Amino acid sequence: MAFVIPVFIPHQGCPHTCVFCNQHTITGTAGTAPVTPEGVRAVIEQWLARSPGRAAGGVQVAFYGGSFTGLPQSRQCELLDGVVPFLESGRVREIRLSTRPDYVDGPTIDFLRRRGVTVVELGVQSMDQTVLDACGRGHTCGQAVEAVRLLRRGAMQVGLQLMIGLPRETTASLLRTVREAARLRPDFVRIYPALVLRGSELADMLARGEYRPLSLGGTVVRAARMKEYFDARGIRVVRMGLQAGPELEKWLVAGPYHPAFGEMVNARIMLNRTRRILRKVREGEPVRLSISSRDRSAFRGVRSANIARLRELGLLDRFSLSADAGQPRHTVRIVNDF
Ligand code: SF4
Repeated sequence: MAFVIPVFIPHQGCPHTCVFCNQHTITGTAGTAPVTPEGVRAVIEQWLARSPGRAAGGVQVAFYGGSFTGLPQSRQCELLDGVVPFLESGRVREIRLSTRPDYVDGPTIDFLRRRGVTVVELGVQSMDQTVLDACGRGHTCGQAVEAVRLLRRGAMQVGLQLMIGLPRETTASLLRTVREAARLRPDFVRIYPALVLRGSELADMLARGEYRPLSLGGTVVRAARMKEYFDARGIRVVRMGLQAGPELEKWLVAGPYHPAFGEMVNARIMLNRTRRILRKVREGEPVRLSISSRDRSAFRGVRSANIARLRELGLLDRFSLSADAGQPRHTVRIVNDF
């Protein structure tokens, strides 16, 4: 797994106003200066010096915090130029950036490739046009499909960012989003819950009673279903939930936030798989289940929630459990040694 060095580019002049985004408010209050190529170089040097051992698996520089290809090209050059010396010396293996589906075209991809970018993440969010419109995204589902096609043609690795709980979203439309996203065969996916942040249109909608966030439990159930769908098709889900921390919590007004959101989703998947497997076993028949030894805590669930749920369902006494270091993560299987 690559060691990721994050470079934050303060939000600069995005002409859009997606309802869930408060970047305009943050930028207005933060007074942040633009990052220079020297600044990029300094960040990379700092991280490499701080974690020399972690660079062994390859280093990826990831630009966060904006729609990279929406910046003027001269500005994109400046930022990427900060990484070029590290690419040339082999100290950095790849560059990742994120952008909007409508900010991707053939010449842009050629330009990025020439500058060493190999991974592009698209903020797709939903593949339901009604949801995109209700969110003020300003792009279409068709543009997301086309952007993936162009990126693939340009030999880029493609990641898709998807959100759960957006305005006008239904269970059916979320499932459609997941199916469409999987059909695009991305290299990886990130799943984020829609949160209500201070300074966003969603916060105003919430105050006016026009939007109700999903519950945490409901979001975990949906995210687990999404992850299982992608897992079954060999599509990696590299993150679930936003990066937790005081900065996010400072802006949070409402919504399904939990610092251990990803853990909760993995725990839910273990619960789902355990229940499914036990359904195949006749009641009263002794059964031993096996999990990966790295999944002990996912099996228990956050604050042992899975154990409590299995007890509630009368399933806890129906099996014994063993852990196997060689078993793949997040799987549950029956061991036939009775
Ligand atoms: S989510 Fe991205 S595209 Fe939308 S307003 Fe925020 S920065 Fe702009």
